[in-house]
Amino acid sequence: MKNLSFKIKTTILITVITSILCAICMSIIGIAGFRAANSETQQKLVRAVERNVDEIEYKNGTLEIENDFAFYSNGVYCNVYSEDFNLLKGEIPENLSDPGEFENETVRKAKIDGENYYFYDSRLDFFKYEYEIDAFTGTILSCENDTVQTKTESAYKENNDISGGIGLDKATEIAIADAGISEDDIFSIATEYQHESKRDIYKVEFTLKETTLDSVWIRGIVLSNSSDVYLAVNRVILYLIPAFILVAALCAYMISKKTIGPVEKITRSAHEINSGNDLTRRIEIGEGNDEIYTLADTFNEMFARLQDSFESEKQFTSDASHELRTPLAVIKAECDFAMSPAADDEDKEEAFESISEQTDKMTHLVNELLILTRAEQSTEKFNFQNINLSELIESECQKFVPQKGISLTSDIEKDICLTVDVSLVGRMLDNLLSNAVKYGKENGKIKVSLIKADKQVILSVKDDGIGIKEEELPKIWSRFYRADTSRGEVEGFGLGLSLVKRIAALNNAEVEVKSVYGEGSEFLVKFFKN
Ligand code: ADP
Repeated sequence: MKNLSFKIKTTILITVITSILCAICMSIIGIAGFRAANSETQQKLVRAVERNVDEIEYKNGTLEIENDFAFYSNGVYCNVYSEDFNLLKGEIPENLSDPGEFENETVRKAKIDGENYYFYDSRLDFFKYEYEIDAFTGTILSCENDTVQTKTESAYKENNDISGGIGLDKATEIAIADAGISEDDIFSIATEYQHESKRDIYKVEFTLKETTLDSVWIRGIVLSNSSDVYLAVNRVILYLIPAFILVAALCAYMISKKTIGPVEKITRSAHEINSGNDLTRRIEIGEGNDEIYTLADTFNEMFARLQDSFESEKQFTSDASHELRTPLAVIKAECDFAMSPAADDEDKEEAFESISEQTDKMTHLVNELLILTRAEQSTEKFNFQNINLSELIESECQKFVPQKGISLTSDIEKDICLTVDVSLVGRMLDNLLSNAVKYGKENGKIKVSLIKADKQVILSVKDDGIGIKEEELPKIWSRFYRADTSRGEVEGFGLGLSLVKRIAALNNAEVEVKSVYGEGSEFLVKFFKN
């Protein structure tokens, strides 16, 4: 797993999670469906049996099954059995010839020959007698024995006997006599006079305490389709889960590809930039605001900084070699000349003087380069301490001996204390003062001041020298940069101000220059109080 790509890992993870969720959901759906199917089958069975209850009755003492009795309907077999469980009428599945035990109004399940069946039995007890008796002649028109769902004691008698008729009491008597029972056996009785289109009749209904007619059973049988449902659900799950896994894996792969795509692009670009050493190239992943685009921007900023840094390093090396080449060429030429037979002693002396001068120049350049490099790489161990800066500046000014008849004055606010590196600040001031002299006029003036401003301590070195053209002001801090006016006329390598800037930064200060070309310059070092 460790060695797999992020894309594959994400794909596997999402696929596994989706598959598990999908399996859980499907199982829940399957179980719910299975239960619903079972319960639906049972309800169907009970409904079929109950519907048939009304289709069986005794007419004039003979058991009659109405034509509407549904022996088979909607997958449910309904059969009629005698009280002693003999099949009276109906069809049953072949393998169910044995009726098994009967149990009134209970759904039961049985496995027969590997198939699941539900059974539901309803026992019909014929407690109810329904007589229709001619109101005038007392003739029994019909007699039915029926089942009663609930035996209530509330009996009603209507005393609307018709004149000339036999009367309700007589009709009741006829009915009871026909049924062959005594009045003590009757649980409840209801009578009613009805006038029909052709005749007048008395309806006499009574329920018995004990029935005298044989009971019958209706048995409903249905094949449980739960196993079908189970199989169907299983089949669906069997097909659906792999399909889901496939879809989930595809989606996961697409998502992770889309997510990781820009990261891969960044990695590829960074790798190409790294291997090709082409720092001018940038990562291009289009426009966007999310984390990936921020990452690309950060990389691009880093490449830009690296490019700047490498280019200035390259420039630095080329400038440094260039500066060293001139004195080396002079030394070589002087040596060749001094060694030639044409050179007399005086020529040789001149040559040696020139060689010595060029060597001093080179030494000076190398020293300056060394200091600058150390300061820039911060490899030198600096010694920062809280000192009286006023005293340091004052003593440096006193030590400095200006040439060209230039006068140096100072205006130093007393007892300004700061944490700085004494030797670095001394070198910085020396560079500024040397420049003020180098680029100052004969008999000119230099003024050094140190003041405490709001949150800063400001050191100023001001001269009335040649000044710097406005367009050159931003460039003078670069290494090896020399203004046009300085080249050839004044000695130098263009490293002094770079060192000043670096020393200022190391001492928590920043530099600034104000200059008017032809009138003079002021260099400001602004220390932040610490
Ligand atoms: P260098 O003095 O060796 O040329 P610096 O880095 O000290 O190098 O100065 C860079 C350039 O800035 C100089 O060549 C010069 O043109 C300009 N410069 C520095 N200081 C002054 C100054 N006080 N007055 C006028 N120009 C100056």
